[in-house]
Amino acid sequence: MTDRIMNFLRDTRPEGPCLVVDLEVVRENYIRFAKAMPDSRIFYAVKANPAPEILSLLAGLGSNFDCASVQEIDMALAAGATPDRISFGNTIKKERDVAAAHARGVTMYAVDCEAEVDKIARSAPGARVYCRILCDGDGAEWALSRKFGCEPAMAIDVLDHAHRSGLVAYGVSFHVGSQQKNPRAWDQALASSAEIFRTLSYRGIELKMVNLGGGFATRYLEDIPEEGEYGHEINESIRAHFGNRIPETIIEPGRGMVGNAGVIKTEVILVSQKAQDDIRWVYLDIGKFNGLAETMDEAIRYPITSSRGGDATPCILAGPTCDSVDVMYEKKPYPLPVSLEIGDELFIGGTGAYTTTYSAIAFNGFPPLASYVI
Ligand SMILES: *Cc1c(COP(=O)(O)O)cnc(C)c1O
Repeated sequence: MTDRIMNFLRDTRPEGPCLVVDLEVVRENYIRFAKAMPDSRIFYAVKANPAPEILSLLAGLGSNFDCASVQEIDMALAAGATPDRISFGNTIKKERDVAAAHARGVTMYAVDCEAEVDKIARSAPGARVYCRILCDGDGAEWALSRKFGCEPAMAIDVLDHAHRSGLVAYGVSFHVGSQQKNPRAWDQALASSAEIFRTLSYRGIELKMVNLGGGFATRYLEDIPEEGEYGHEINESIRAHFGNRIPETIIEPGRGMVGNAGVIKTEVILVSQKAQDDIRWVYLDIGKFNGLAETMDEAIRYPITSSRGGDATPCILAGPTCDSVDVMYEKKPYPLPVSLEIGDELFIGGTGAYTTTYSAIAFNGFPPLASYVI
């Protein structure tokens, strides 16, 4: 937790669970990405945290934006981004949303099949398209499934089709899975990308860009590679596979840009030891439905601190709603101080990404996660 967040919580004592994001940390993250990958343009993945203050800060620093909907495009524009700094990166778009993006001046779109290319050819004529290829997501803590992307051989046909439809066949994209702690994970997809570039070049279509996606990790409980290590490994792979025909590259960090900038303050509602369990249950005023959705399958394990000292024993950690899936850590219980009491505050670190946006509006009447950006 940064001093700024600590002071904010001490001075304002907000009621209820809340996320506090320190913009200074976001600024440092942006600068680190820019230094680690100086040849790549940065497209912040807006879905990780679309708070207007974050988008304005990043727009001012020169960031571009990866948007998944017209609403996200409007948020990026409102933050000061120009349409040439926006990519419509969702491979699943209504055609009228493509038209709306085109009307706003957006010229870059993701696709992964010919039907999506056809929508763009009709509703955003002349646009640049890049084709997303599949990635196995090995090594990622929050893998992205087969929902997006196509096999590299199909990508060749999709881009060829785009070219013949009057669009600019611009490049290839992929996502190696979120919270990807292996900096070598980009290598295989870069090899496939280079192959697609070569094959299309023989056909007279010169692709220009590789979109390296997101995946850059944020620190939870375990150490993670530094931005520089990702940059180094990715650069090596690009050189190995593209030789002296280095493409333009872009990166789309979401989690890595904002994850470590946020802390959630939560309150212990109940500590109970039931006869049927030999373990304490700790119930918080935050759970899967108001911010901690990424604890699904216990995928993301957040660092949690309290002001209590002394010994810690494992607890089952659960949220406040009347739904039995609203349990964060049970398979692998979470150690918390023995002296923990009802009414204590806990601080959940690394929560700047994928918390507010995954929060339900009023399940069981609980409000969505409050957010303060300082
Ligand atoms: C979600 C998403 C990202 C951001 O991923 P992180 O792992 O949070 O960095 C980047 N690109 C696309 C297309 C995405 O859907």
